[in-house]
Parts: sequence; C-alpha cells; structure tokens
Amino acid sequence: MRVAKHVETESRRDVPAAGGVEPTVGYDAPIPGPARSPRDSALVLPHRVALTFDAEHPDRPRSQPDATDRLLDVLAATGVRATFFVQGRWAEAYPTTARRIAAEGHVVGNHSFFHASLPLLSEEGLVEDVGRAEFAIRDATGVDPHPWFRFPFGHGIDDPRVVSTIERLGYRHIGWDADSGDWEPERTAREIEKAIVRGATSGRTCVVLLHGWPSATVPAVAAAIDALRSRDVAFVTVDQLADAERPRGLPADLESLP
Ligand SMILES: [Zn+2]
Repeated sequence: MRVAKHVETESRRDVPAAGGVEPTVGYDAPIPGPARSPRDSALVLPHRVALTFDAEHPDRPRSQPDATDRLLDVLAATGVRATFFVQGRWAEAYPTTARRIAAEGHVVGNHSFFHASLPLLSEEGLVEDVGRAEFAIRDATGVDPHPWFRFPFGHGIDDPRVVSTIERLGYRHIGWDADSGDWEPERTAREIEKAIVRGATSGRTCVVLLHGWPSATVPAVAAAIDALRSRDVAFVTVDQLADAERPRGLPADLESLP
C-alpha cells in the first residue's frame, strides 16, 4: 500500500494543474480540506512566488525604453499578477505605462522618488523624498502605494532611523528571497530565467527581485512563467503573502543564485 500511494503521489505531481493552481486535495484522499501536516502540504500545495519589479529609471546599459510595456504585455498574456515598486520620478516620466501597471491589476508599491541610497538622506530629505514619490505615484497610477515600499539598492534595511521613518509614514519595506541578477549588464535572459525558476522552486514562498528596464528581463520572465506553470508554482502578489513570508532583508546566501 505504501508503494502504491507513493506512485500515485509522483504521478499527480507530474500533471500540470489547470490554471496554474494545484488542487488542494490530499494525494490519497478525495476530500478537499486543509493539509494535514507540514510534510503533506509540502507535497500537495504549490510553491508560491511573487515576481516583484522595480519600475525605475535605469542607471545601467542594456535598458530599452519600451521594456516595461513589453513586460506588462507578457504578464497580461500569461495572466500573471505581479508587484511593481514604482520610482516617483519614473512615474512622472512615463505616466501612461505607470497607469497600465495599476489598471492591469498589479500591486503598486513606492520605490522612492530619486532612487537615492536612503541612509544618506537627512530625516527631512527622507520624508520629502518618500512623500514626493507617493504623490507622483498616486497621480500617475491612480492608486495609493501604501503600505508597500522597497528601499533602493536594499539600502536602509539595517538602519533603524530609516526603517522607523518609513514605518511612521505608513510603509513597510519588502526585500527579496532571490535576486534574478537582471540588473547586471552581462546577465543573459537564460541566466535570469534560471535564477527565477531556481528561487521559485527552492521553498514554499519566494519573492523574486526583478526590474522593469533590462532588455533581457522580458524574454526571461516569459520563459520562467512558462517553465514554472508546470512545476506546481502559484504566482502571488506581496499582499497575498503572510507577514512572516515577506522578506525584509536580503537573501542569507547571496552566492546561492547564479
Ligand atoms: Zn531600484
């Protein structure tokens, strides 16, 4: 009997779930219900991955002006909702694309106005930057970015002054579990795709860091979504994760991803 159950489990996991959502029934019980133990849930429930994009002015080569729009085309075509941390100055420059992000159902967060390293700003400057970004994002997208915030470069996660200030302003920083590395000039689409897939399938939940501007990100995301659809992965937005599942810092092992 144990062998038969095991075979059934393996065969179930080989079948892509309709709509990308794994059925929640136990592998040897036809009655839907909560998983009976963490071990069971690891077998029958999908990984959940939040693709997060920093929508910002590129500060490196290999960017394409229409990359964010083509990225939105990919997400629309595949029915994947993602999270976009929008830089205020970028939203002012590209209001049509910024509005598309919200209109197409993606979650909008605040990624500061100038994309400065926030610990370098005075208290007054920090409050002004975050507020100015908030105004620009609301103006362009039509939605309130609260409470989602991402520190530019991740700088500020270990600075109590910066953390307490953004919390006082009603925000919480969202870090990442996996860095796709798409911001690195030499990173190929295939390497970015592999980093997304590896991160997404390495744990129960994974927040992946991506950007809206690199040209290689668009085909990489399309290929990764295609690959993950057959690997028990559900795509979620940061608001769909439990608080404990939202990383505040950087991956513990920065060398674990290519
Ligand atoms: Zn950024």
